Parts: sequence; C-alpha cells; structure tokens
Amino acid sequence: MPHWILAVAASSDSNPFQSALDFFKSPTWHFITLMFYFLLAVLWIACAYWVFKDARRRVDDTIILAVCVLTGIVFGPLGLIVYAIVRPPELVADRREQELEMQMMEQRLGEESRCSFCKTPVRDDYLVCPTCGRRLRTTCASCGKPVEPSWRVCPYCETDVHGAMPPVSVYDRA
Ligand SMILES: [Zn+2]
Ligand SMILES: [Zn+2]
Repeated sequence: MPHWILAVAASSDSNPFQSALDFFKSPTWHFITLMFYFLLAVLWIACAYWVFKDARRRVDDTIILAVCVLTGIVFGPLGLIVYAIVRPPELVADRREQELEMQMMEQRLGEESRCSFCKTPVRDDYLVCPTCGRRLRTTCASCGKPVEPSWRVCPYCETDVHGAMPPVSVYDRA
C-alpha cells in the first residue's frame, strides 16, 4: 500500500474536529467569550442609560418614567427599540412652553372687550366705540382719566364718580 494512503487513513482515525474542539477549550476562546459578554453588558447599560436620559426629558410622570427605565434595563437593546417607537414625540419643556403660550393667548382673548352694540373689539381705555360711536366710558371730572361704569370712586384721584354714568355696562367682556 502506498505511503500516502496510509497517511490519510491514519489522519482519518483521529477526530478531524479535534483541533476545533481544542480551540474552544483554549484560553483564546475563553478570552473572546469574556470580551463578548463584556461588550454585551456595556451595550446593555448604554441602552438602559439612553432610555433613562431620553425618557426623563419626555415623561413627567414618575411611574411611567420608572416603567420606561425598567424596560431599558430588562430588555436592553430590544427595550430601547420598543421605547423609541412608543415614546412621547415632544419634550416636556416644549409641551410646557406650548401650554403657557395657549394660556397667555386665552388670557389675551379673555381680556378683550367688545362693544355690546356692534361687537367691535374695544380697548379698556376707549371712551366711545370707534365703529358705532356709542359711549363706553365716561371720564373723571377731576383728572380726565377713563372711568368704568361700575366704579364708585376714581382710582387715580379718589374723586367720587358714582352716578356719572348709569351703572349698567354698555360693553361686554368677551
Ligand atoms: Zn360699537
Ligand atoms: Zn380722577
């Protein structure tokens, strides 16, 4: 029998996967596994931290915030993906600013007075309606400042203005 056939037969007797198995038992493979787990842990912590940081700016409810953070900690990268899908679209600071703007707008609208005859918006210091010419306020006889029909005393000079104008309001508060 030729030598090369004997050589092949001999090598096929030993397990061809033996070298691979040896590799999986080697310190190198052990190190690679450790590195893999280490990187996974780092990635996990990074995901949880990112969810926490982002949720803190978007959620002002403590319980919901805790649920978000817990999702990040328990599910790691998967939790991050789920969180990114369901997170509130706007920041808490933006939402507060919008609410404040709405409040201010409502206040401004509430403060606006209208002539009760023609519904023209009138300012608080108008004496007559600029559209229909009806008298909205009178002036204080002493200091000349505009006086509301319901006032008894002029707040600027303390003069008694009661009866200077009928106490019936001729303009509406919108
Ligand atoms: Zn008017
Ligand atoms: Zn006055």
